[in-house]
Amino acid sequence: MKVIVLGGGVVGVTTAYQLQNDGCDVVIVERQPLVAAETSWGNAGMIAPGHSFVWSSPKAPMILLKSLVFKDQALRFKFSADPRLYSWSWRFLMECTSTKARRNTLLKHRLAAYSQRVLQQVIAREAIEYDRNDRGILYFHRTQEALDHGVAQMKLLESDGQVIRVLSRDQVVAVDPSLASAKHGIAGAIYCPTDETGDPAKFTRALAEKIVARGGTLLTDTAVSGFETAGQNVAGVRTDRGLVTGDAYVLALGSYSPLLGRQIGIDLPIYPIKGYSLTIPIDGQPLPPTVAAVDEHNLVAISRFGDRIRVTATAEFAGYDTSHKPSDFAFMKRVTRELYPAGGNYDRAEMWAGLRPMTPTNLPFLGRSKYRNLYLNTGHGHIGWTMSHGSARITADLIAGRAPAIPTVGLLCD
Ligand SMILES: Cc1cc2nc3c(=O)[nH]c(=O)nc-3n(C[C@H](O)[C@H](O)[C@H](O)COP(=O)(O)OP(=O)(O)OC[C@H]3O[C@@H](n4cnc5c(N)ncnc54)[C@H](O)[C@@H]3O)c2cc1C
Repeated sequence: MKVIVLGGGVVGVTTAYQLQNDGCDVVIVERQPLVAAETSWGNAGMIAPGHSFVWSSPKAPMILLKSLVFKDQALRFKFSADPRLYSWSWRFLMECTSTKARRNTLLKHRLAAYSQRVLQQVIAREAIEYDRNDRGILYFHRTQEALDHGVAQMKLLESDGQVIRVLSRDQVVAVDPSLASAKHGIAGAIYCPTDETGDPAKFTRALAEKIVARGGTLLTDTAVSGFETAGQNVAGVRTDRGLVTGDAYVLALGSYSPLLGRQIGIDLPIYPIKGYSLTIPIDGQPLPPTVAAVDEHNLVAISRFGDRIRVTATAEFAGYDTSHKPSDFAFMKRVTRELYPAGGNYDRAEMWAGLRPMTPTNLPFLGRSKYRNLYLNTGHGHIGWTMSHGSARITADLIAGRAPAIPTVGLLCD
């Protein structure tokens, strides 16, 4: 079977890998010169089932409302003329009941935890160097009240098998001594020792090389502009290099999937939510972070990729605009510098912005579309690196006509 995978982000490439392992002939179509050049490039690299909480929670409407009034650093909601912003926001708000938030969080955690297991199978099979750090993630809080609230909330993920440890500030420093000078600003942490980190772009590019070495085709610099359909099937994808045809197709274009889907009547409520990241070289500084951390008060995530630190922050409604300016990074840089004053060379930080492909439920669209041979694997939002490996395996199983290894009720769109 020949399968055309649209999109060479982490979701598309992991899908192609799983399909190839099943014996499929795979073609990845990617508009950039390299895979993992858009959202899958600059993220925080956290494989974080412990961060599976959905954004569409009962707290979200008030956070959105406040962001209109106060110049919030973490969330920036802006009105725009784009009607899709309002239809998406309405659907998002409809998911913000406590019942739906609980359901969506548990489904997301199931997928994220499965996905981590699939990732571990892949790296047991393949030699891939991607600056993996398997020492867990510290989700730390600034006040005792916030920590207590976080611990209570975490019971939900714990009930689904997430391993957590509640740490005092001294125990936080014992896990990562590089936080010693900042410890008085930290009340304690929820430590998820089984969460991990690694550079998603390095991983994706190395995996793509393996796919090509095993006979797969990678069509880079190739932009998809539309579909040819024949009745209930997709007959081909139109690209700026001609028609690409196969037996089955996987839509994995991240934030851009709805733009293509819409052309053939597939409505995908995926909205781009912009985030920013800094990549800071350690440059011989003595106390870089040794364990990834999330500052839950400031909503800043910090990971260590070998000789670099990756810091991410901010959720901004800016449509498809990925531009950035130094002032966008001032807050996250200041927070990181205060936490790790001798952590890296902050003057040489590389700036980046990318788009999280967010769905109202915060769950991706997985499964067969209304076209019999077009499968969806898209809309992975804020933890798409985490969920990609499992989503890829499930997609390959569905294409092979096999039952996926985890229950998929609530996870599939068909
Ligand atoms: C600031 C930030 C921090 C994040 N941190 C984390 C984290 O710590 N952990 C985690 O799990 N996730 C994280 N994420 C989320 C994660 O990065 C995304 O969910 C994931 O990268 C989405 O992968 P994707 O392959 O669906 O999308 P993309 O990486 O965007 O891939 C889609 C691909 O499709 C291509 N494409 C688009 N349109 C066309 C077209 N017409 N023709 C051909 N090709 C096209 C694009 O070039 C792109 O390469 C973060 C995201 C952001 C923005």
